[in-house]
Amino acid sequence: MNYPKVILKSGKDQSVRRYHPWIFSGAIKKIIGNVNEGDLVYVTDNKDEFLALGHYQIGSIAVRILTFDQREIDENFWKEKISNAYKLRKNFGLAEKENHNVYRLVHAEGDGLPGLIIDYYNGTAVLQMHSIGMYMNKEHIINALRELYGDKLLAIYDKSATTIPFKSQIEAKNGYVYGESGEQVVLEYGNKFRVNWEEGQKTGFFIDQRENRKLLAKYSKNRSVLNVFGYTGGFSVYAMQGAANIVHSVDSSKKAIDLTNENINLNFGDDKRHEAFAVDAFEYLNDIDNKYDVIILDPPAFAKHHNVLHNALQGYKRMNAKAIEKIKPGGLLFTFSCSQVVSKENFRKTIFTAAANTGRNVRILHQLSQPIDHPVNIYHPESEYLKGLVVYVE
Ligand code: SAH
Repeated sequence: MNYPKVILKSGKDQSVRRYHPWIFSGAIKKIIGNVNEGDLVYVTDNKDEFLALGHYQIGSIAVRILTFDQREIDENFWKEKISNAYKLRKNFGLAEKENHNVYRLVHAEGDGLPGLIIDYYNGTAVLQMHSIGMYMNKEHIINALRELYGDKLLAIYDKSATTIPFKSQIEAKNGYVYGESGEQVVLEYGNKFRVNWEEGQKTGFFIDQRENRKLLAKYSKNRSVLNVFGYTGGFSVYAMQGAANIVHSVDSSKKAIDLTNENINLNFGDDKRHEAFAVDAFEYLNDIDNKYDVIILDPPAFAKHHNVLHNALQGYKRMNAKAIEKIKPGGLLFTFSCSQVVSKENFRKTIFTAAANTGRNVRILHQLSQPIDHPVNIYHPESEYLKGLVVYVE
C-alpha cells in the first residue's frame, strides 16, 4: 500500500490502539510523502508499526480512521460498510415496511464511516459529507447505495454544501447525484410527515427523536401538551396520536410553524386540539402559568464548541427553570440537549440546578438518548450527542 505515512509521537498511539477513530494534529511526529486534504494515509506508531488507514484532513482532527486492518479501501470496502449499516437497521425492524419508511442509514463514526451521514426517506437517500475524504468517495458511496436498494431507490440527494469544511478548496453544491425526487410524505411508525430535504434543516427531518416522540405519546392521554422548539411538529403529532386534550406547538420560525400545521393536518385533518405559534420560546414560557401538564423542550444545540459551553449551560438552566416553575403540579417535562460538547453529566447537573432554583420536588422518570439508527461507537464516546430527561414535577 503506497500511501503517505503519518507517524505518531511516542505514546500517542494509545488511543488508536483502543480504536478511537480520530488522530489529532498534535499527536503527529511527522508525515512522509506528499499529502493533500482528503487523501488516504497510512498511520503508524513511532516504530513503524501499522495502526490504521484513514482520510487526512487539515485541522485539529488530522486523520479520520476508516479501518484498523491492513486492507484496501476500494469499491468493496464501501459496499461492505454500507450494507453492514443497513443490516443493523433491517435486523431491528427499522428498514422500509408498510407503515415505516424513514431512518438514518449511516451515522458517521457510529457506523465506522467518520464524516458521512446518510438519511433514508421513502426511496430517497440524503447524503451529508463532513470531510473532504468522504466527499472524494462520493461515487463509491452512490454505487454502494444503488446496489443495496436496487429499484427501490428513486434518488440520491447530496446536501454537503454547508457541511464540507469551509477552508477546503472544494466547492460542494447541493443537488441530486442520482435520479430526482421532490419532497415526500414519509411514514414514521404510521405517522405522516412532509420532508423537504432541499429546504429543510439538516437533512430535512430530526429522525433522532423518533423513540422519544413515541414515549411522549404514552404520556399524552387527556393532558395538555406544549411542544417548544417544535420544528416539523414531530412531538406534537405523537401527542395528538396519544390522545392529548390540547397540543400547542411553538417555534420562532414561521416556516416551521407552517410545516407543523401541515403535518398535523396530514394526520388528523382540521383538529381543533392543536394550535401553533410563531414566537420566541423564552418569551412564550414567561406567560404559561399552570397551563400545561406536559412540556417538551428540544432546542437547537446551544453550544457547538467547548469555549461557549458555560454560556450554553446557563441558557439550558434558565430555560428549564422557567418550564419547571410554570408546569402544572404533577406535570412532566421532556427536556433535551443535542450539543455534542454538553456531556450527559453536565446536562443532568444543569437540570438539577434549574430544579433547585424553583424549589419544586422533581424526580427523574426516564433518561433518554439517541435511537439504534444513531448508534454510539463504544470507542468514540463523542458519538453520543443526544441527551434527554423526563422529569416529574410535583
Ligand atoms: N423538536 C424538533 C427539532 C427542533 S430543531 C423535532 O423533533 O423535529 C430546533 C428548532 O428550534 C428549529 O425549528 C428553530 O427554528 C427553533 N428555534 C431556534 N431558536 C428558537 C427560539 N429562540 N424560540 C423558538 N424556537 C426557536
